[in-house]
Amino acid sequence: MLEIKNLKKVYKTKGGQEVKALDDVSVTFPETGMVFLLGKSGSGKSTLLNVTGGLDKPDSGEIIIKGKNSKDFSGADFDSYRNTYIGFIFQEYNILNEFNIEQNIELALQLQGKKNDKESVLKLLEQVDLKGLGKRKPNTLSGGQKQRVAIARALIKNPEIIMADEPTGALDSNTGKQVFDTLKKLSKEKLVIIVSHDRDFAEIYADRIIELADGKIISDMTKAHIEPKSLNENINIVNDNVLSIKNVEELKRDDLDKIYDLLKSKNGEVIISTSDHDNKAIKQAIHISEDNRSEVFSDTKEVNTKEYDPKNTKFIKSHLPFQRAFKIGASSLKSKPIRMIFTIFLTIVALVMFGVTSTLMLYDESYSVKEALKNTDLDYEQISKTYKVENIGHNFNISTGEDKVTYKNTEYLETAFSSSDINYLNSKSANKYAGVIKFGSYNYYSGASRVLRIESMTLASSNYYPYVAMTGLVDAGINYITSNGFTITGSYPSNYTEIAITDYMYQMLKDGNPDQVKSYDDILNKTVTCRFGFSGYNVELKITGIINTGMIPTKYNDLKNNTSNLNQNELDKLAEEFKLYIGNSFHLMGYVSNDFYKEYMKDYEVYTYDYINTIWAR
Ligand code: ADP
Ligand code: MG
Repeated sequence: MLEIKNLKKVYKTKGGQEVKALDDVSVTFPETGMVFLLGKSGSGKSTLLNVTGGLDKPDSGEIIIKGKNSKDFSGADFDSYRNTYIGFIFQEYNILNEFNIEQNIELALQLQGKKNDKESVLKLLEQVDLKGLGKRKPNTLSGGQKQRVAIARALIKNPEIIMADEPTGALDSNTGKQVFDTLKKLSKEKLVIIVSHDRDFAEIYADRIIELADGKIISDMTKAHIEPKSLNENINIVNDNVLSIKNVEELKRDDLDKIYDLLKSKNGEVIISTSDHDNKAIKQAIHISEDNRSEVFSDTKEVNTKEYDPKNTKFIKSHLPFQRAFKIGASSLKSKPIRMIFTIFLTIVALVMFGVTSTLMLYDESYSVKEALKNTDLDYEQISKTYKVENIGHNFNISTGEDKVTYKNTEYLETAFSSSDINYLNSKSANKYAGVIKFGSYNYYSGASRVLRIESMTLASSNYYPYVAMTGLVDAGINYITSNGFTITGSYPSNYTEIAITDYMYQMLKDGNPDQVKSYDDILNKTVTCRFGFSGYNVELKITGIINTGMIPTKYNDLKNNTSNLNQNELDKLAEEFKLYIGNSFHLMGYVSNDFYKEYMKDYEVYTYDYINTIWAR
C-alpha cells in the first residue's frame, strides 16, 4: 500500500552546514501491522514520518501510495493524500477541557463534515478502549486515556494508515502501555507507523523495527514467531529455558518426571510462577506471545504487499470547513462565559458577488465597545471580526431579462484584521492592541499542534502548561512591549527569521528539560521550529529575546504546585479557567517582526480559519 523510495532531505543550519536528515531512505511498508521507527534523537525519525505522511516535502525521492507515485502528484495532492489515508497522532493530544469526551469527538466529526450520530461516536470510543467514558471531562482522564481520545479523533477519517510521533512521549510507562495496546489492536487492520526512541516498547509491540542513524536506515528487522515444541497436550517447551503448563490438575506422574529432569539440568535459580498477572509480565519481558510462541527479530526479507492500480487510487480533497469551524468556535465561547475574556463579534453584511470589503468605520464601532467596557473588571479583551455573508443564487433568463432568486442563505466567515486596522486602533489607545495569528486548528487537529519545538527539548505538559505549544504569533514591535510594561532580555526580532518567546514559554521549556535549561542563556539564540496550520509547514526561527509579560495571577500557582489546599473539583475548575486565560493571552504568544506576516502568511489570506487575526488589549 505504501512505499518510499530514495527519500532525501537536507536541512541547512545557520553556519551553512548541511544536515542530512534523510539520506536515501527506501522502505516498503506492509499492508497492516505495527512498524516502529527507532533511533536516537536527531536521527531523522520525525523527518521520515513527516515526509512519508506528506506533512513535509522531500528534496528528492518518491512516495508511492497504492500505486500512485508522488512524482505525479499535482499541487494540493500532498494534502489530499494525507487527508485520505493518514491519521496523525502526536505527543500533545490537545483535547478541549471545556467539553466532555463525546463532545470532543463530535466536534471533530463535524469538522470533518461527517454526520454526527451517536452510534459512530460510541463506536470510535469502543475502538480506542474508552467505552463508557464518553460523558467524562478530559481532566478526569489519565494522560493515556487522553491520548486515546486523540487516537479516536484520528480514526474519524477512517484512515488506512496511522502515524504516531512519540505518542507516549509525555506519559509514564504504564499509561504509555495502554496507548500501545490500543494501537496494537488497530494494527490488525491498519498500517501503524510509530516513531519512538524506546527500544523496550518497540520489541514488545513491533511487528517490524526500522532503526535510523544520521538519516540512514541502519537496521530493518521483522518479528518472526517460533512455535513451541509440545511435549503433550498439556505441556509446551517454549524454548530451552521456558516450559509452560496449561493445566496443573492434569499433570501425570510421568509429566512430573520430565519436569524434574528439566529442573535438574539448571544450576542457577529457577522461578516457578503461578500468577496470571506475573506470567503475562514475564512473557512480555522475554518476548513470548500469549500463545507461547517465541518472538525473534531477524532481517526483513519479504514484506507482505498487494498490487494496486493507480487508476483506482482516489484522493479526497481536503478543504477547510469555515462555517463549521466558526460555529464551533462561537459555541465554545458561549459555553464558558468567563468574565475575563470577552469576545466581540462585529457583523457587517456583504454580498459575496461583490467581494468583501472592510472599512475603518467598523473599528470605530469596536473602539467604542471597548470604551464602554472599560469600567468593568476586564483583564483583557479579545476582538475578532466576522462577516455575515448573504449567499444569493440567481436564475437569469437572457432572452426575457427575468431574474429569479433561487436561493438565499447566510454564512458567517471569520476574517483577518489588516495591519492598518491595528495601527488605527493603536493610534487611539496608546499601543494596547496587537494582531494575533492564531493557529486556528490546533485545538482540533493534533497534526497542526506543533507550533513550537526546539530540537530535543520537551515542553512541559500539565494543568499549568495545558497547551504544550504557543497559541499564536504577534508582530507587536518593541513599542508595544515597552508601553505595556513588559521587559525583554535579548532583543526584539528584527526580521522574519527571528522570534522572541515569553518567560512563560521559557518556564515551560525549563520544566520540561530541567537538565538542559537552567537560564535564559540556554534558550537565547536557539533555533525553534514552528509549524503552521493545517498544511503544517515548518518555519525555523532564531530566538533573539525572552519577554517577561508580567505576573500570571498568583491564584493559578495552585496548578503548579502539588501543595494546593483545593480539592479535585476546585482544581479542575481552576485548570479550566486557567486554560482559557492563558490560551489567548500575551503569555503564550510568539513575538515576531512586522515583516513576518508578509513573508509567511501570504498564502494564508484565503484561509481565514487558519489565519484568524484577533486583537487584544489590556
Ligand atoms: P528525530 O525525530 O529522530 O529526533 P528529526 O527528524 O527531528 O530527528 O531530525 C533529524 C535531523 O534533522 C536533526 O539533526 C535535526 O536537527 C535536523 N532537523 C530536523 N528538522 C529540521 C529543520 N526544520 N531545520 C533544520 N534542521 C532540522
Ligand atoms: Mg522526533
